[in-house]
Amino acid sequence: MSRSAHPAGPRHADVLPEGHYLAPPADLNALDAKVWAQTVTRDAHGVVTVGGIGVKQLAEEFGTPAYILDEADFRARARAWRTAFGPGADVFYAGKAFLSRAVVRWLDEEGLNLDVCSGGELATALSGGMPADRIAFHGNNKSTAEIERAIRAGVGRIVLDSFQEIVRVAHIARSLGVRQRVQIRVTVGVEAHTHEFIATAHEDQKFGIPLAGGQAAEAVRRALQLDGLELIGIHSHIGSQIFDMSGFEVAAHRVVGLLREIRDEHGVELPEIDLGGGLGIAYTSDDDPREPHEIAKALTEIVGRECEAAGLRTPRISVEPGRAIVGPTAFTLYEVGTVKPLAGLRTYVSVDGGMSDNIRTALYDAEYSVALVSRASDAEPMLVRVVGKHCESGDIVVRDAFLPADLAPGDLIAVPATGAYCRSMASNYNHVPRPPVVAVRDGEARVIVRRETEEDLLRLDVG
Ligand SMILES: *Cc1c(COP(=O)(O)O)cnc(C)c1O
Repeated sequence: MSRSAHPAGPRHADVLPEGHYLAPPADLNALDAKVWAQTVTRDAHGVVTVGGIGVKQLAEEFGTPAYILDEADFRARARAWRTAFGPGADVFYAGKAFLSRAVVRWLDEEGLNLDVCSGGELATALSGGMPADRIAFHGNNKSTAEIERAIRAGVGRIVLDSFQEIVRVAHIARSLGVRQRVQIRVTVGVEAHTHEFIATAHEDQKFGIPLAGGQAAEAVRRALQLDGLELIGIHSHIGSQIFDMSGFEVAAHRVVGLLREIRDEHGVELPEIDLGGGLGIAYTSDDDPREPHEIAKALTEIVGRECEAAGLRTPRISVEPGRAIVGPTAFTLYEVGTVKPLAGLRTYVSVDGGMSDNIRTALYDAEYSVALVSRASDAEPMLVRVVGKHCESGDIVVRDAFLPADLAPGDLIAVPATGAYCRSMASNYNHVPRPPVVAVRDGEARVIVRRETEEDLLRLDVG
């Protein structure tokens, strides 16, 4: 397909700012399987397709921006986690990564459990048909109304996050005549190898009860005394976007140490241990995530070894992947609005969304990839920054990437690996309605979360 070059002329890779770390890829039309959903491919006309449907058709039918989710890929990843851990363990999908009723149904069908951390997530989980006993309820500040609702619904476990919450949940359970299954979330003092704002296991943070100074042991002591609670295990979540298993190794060692202390003091062997989520995915070709079977093998071995050394029966393991299941399954489809070359710097490519549909770049300095998807191009690579339409100079979607120099308004570009923490963290900044989530499978596309409209926005504004 031929296209006239951009009026400003091609931007060549040789305009890279001096010392820039990025090198242009060998082939701008290539789609690295690591960062794209499984069924994504480029057809004979150069148009990218997913689940057998071209992106131009998707844009026409559903508009842009839109999150396009590969349902087969989601199910395959969910199943891979389920299979890797087997019947002797539980996989809880972390709903905060992305939750909708369709997703709840897929999880149910694939045999996964579900983590929620608010009344809204709980409502979605129940409305989607997840059996309550397969739901875990998390959060550092659950309201009494949320706790009561969760207990009445019959959730399988509540993960206790503070001394006050131990008493609060016990009290509510007792008043409802229930003995609620609970875990205690502990912080093990592990700093996961990731961005500071999303590392959650160092001790100076709001989640969990520190192992340090005997605090977690004291929490266990209190929970065991309260007849509204059935303490089933200890929970640890050490961070997010982690590639290195050594953090889990240290965490498991310390949690098993607590289990041994509990046995020695109370004569009780707690039957479960939850190692949380946080497993990394590939946002760019530089990331090398592990496969679920490798993770399952590593975690199972670590826990088995630690328990054997401590003379404990190996507890049932649960894990809570969010990003690792949904992250790679979706991309955000945008239309290019303006292309603004800044001589000697880079070219700013503005799209019809931005920080309202993907806050991660601004919030965490997250890195993403991007590709021209409505056509192939043999133009030279140009260094770009993909930005949104918001009134904020930090409104960056992809900080540094290469796109073909003939990129022009009306082209469709896509940012892969936006399945996790993009729609779920989306905002209405600048009163921009949030994009839909479109699930594609076997040549069929359907909206699972519809696009917000201006009417939706105005409905909340009572005047
Ligand atoms: C966020 C979170 C997860 C999921 O993290 P991912 O990085 O999406 O895998 C799991 N468990 C808990 C307690 C969390 O807070």
